[in-house]
Amino acid sequence: MIPGPEEVYGVLDSRFPFDSAYDWDNSGWQIAATRPIQRCLVALDPSVTAVEKAIEWQAQLLLTHHPLFLPHLSSIHPQSSTGAITKVLLASDTGLLASHSCADRHIDGISGALADAIGLECHQVLATDAQGTLYKLVTFVPDDYLEPVRTALAAAGAGVIGNYEECSFTLAGIGTYRPQKGARPMQGEIGQLEMVDEHRLEMRVPEAAVGGVLKALQRYHPYDEVAFDLFRTFAQGDQLGIGVLGTLPQAKALNDVIDHIKKALGGVHMKVTGPEEGTIEVVAVAAGSAGDFVPIAAGRGAQLFLGGDLKYHKMLDYSGSIVCVDPGHRATEQPGVERLADVLRHAAVQNNWELEVETFLEDPAFGRFV
Ligand SMILES: [Zn+2]
Repeated sequence: MIPGPEEVYGVLDSRFPFDSAYDWDNSGWQIAATRPIQRCLVALDPSVTAVEKAIEWQAQLLLTHHPLFLPHLSSIHPQSSTGAITKVLLASDTGLLASHSCADRHIDGISGALADAIGLECHQVLATDAQGTLYKLVTFVPDDYLEPVRTALAAAGAGVIGNYEECSFTLAGIGTYRPQKGARPMQGEIGQLEMVDEHRLEMRVPEAAVGGVLKALQRYHPYDEVAFDLFRTFAQGDQLGIGVLGTLPQAKALNDVIDHIKKALGGVHMKVTGPEEGTIEVVAVAAGSAGDFVPIAAGRGAQLFLGGDLKYHKMLDYSGSIVCVDPGHRATEQPGVERLADVLRHAAVQNNWELEVETFLEDPAFGRFV
């Protein structure tokens, strides 16, 4: 099956909900896709080269981290680069979708991908700015439909506990109902009491995924009236925020850690400030423009902070206490491009979609030294 634009959008929305983006941001459709999506190119920027690649590859969708229209669009000048890109995308009927600060604010998003790229363990949000509410969904599913329903709920974002996906609990039992006039029972007749072998299925649902999970439940559950309860729990939901704090699998000499980071990021040049020797174990990362997070990283005990666009005064102020490593904005966000692509690849396998996903990574060393 070839997914439609809304199905592809729904997958990203359940992983990094678009409405969790910051108010100043413009995540979501930049140019809505209109065709079924067989090919999706994923890139950091909606640059001229990325758009050309998408069209050349005959992709129906270009998914980027950075939006084309930021700040929000008020007018388009055809001669501007934004105008030219818009024109080309519209003429080729190529959709453009951006997963920007919504992917930044989730621990397994753009910064999580950077943390994974350098092998950090025990991830925590570096700078928390919101705490999501956690819900528990309980529903009752006839036996033959248990697996499709459970899989669909998991694909929509239910059942994640820490580093585990598809967490659920099921219990077999008997469900009863007596269909009334107007009902369309899957099994049984109007006016007759029916007893059905069902499973009680329970899964955790983070606040941001509630809408998508309930939609998936209605779609995959076979009954015309789906019985379910959604409980608000007192457990803490996902923390939202910027950056990741973690630890290396073992403490290492500073120079070895720097070499390791450089290699993990494709050998890009990096600006390094702070202590010149020592042992590093606790590391903070923040992909993209991370200049404001140096004090937070230092305050939380990180011995090294890896981020893009670090600011001179912040690096100077903390040069006695924390090693700062800045490989540039693009280099820190490129692992996140692979992460976005993997979200779609994973969904394609789970949903049996005919969807090819490729990444387009531009030279991580944006600009040149002369
Ligand atoms: Zn960025």
